[in-house]
Amino acid sequence: LKVKHIVVCGHYNCGGIKSAMIPKDLGIMNPWLRNIRDVYRLHSEELNAIENEGMRYNRLVELNVQEQCVNVVKNPFVQRAMENGLEVHGWVFDLFTGKLIDLNLNFDKILENIKEIYDINE
Ligand SMILES: [Zn+2]
Repeated sequence: LKVKHIVVCGHYNCGGIKSAMIPKDLGIMNPWLRNIRDVYRLHSEELNAIENEGMRYNRLVELNVQEQCVNVVKNPFVQRAMENGLEVHGWVFDLFTGKLIDLNLNFDKILENIKEIYDINE
């Protein structure tokens, strides 16, 4: 990996995320939606506690970015590169304000719980 930064970027008000939260057969989209539904399942307790529908969708957008970052960080080559300064960023683009929001993901903290399984560094 000869890059210094990896950016995973999602966007609020994502139609794909909305579709994934509704249990429905969407044909060709199903495999892609299944990944997002997995993220929903992982975080269903937090998400179900959010009463406002729009806020719930947008939180899933953030959590999906987070989980895709975790997928990147799980890669052993990425982990080695991170030891040497590679940074992984999770961002969300807000289409209405035009702002790019850095989720400031703390991978040390996120990976703490799953470290025994994924961390290849001693
Ligand atoms: Zn989208």
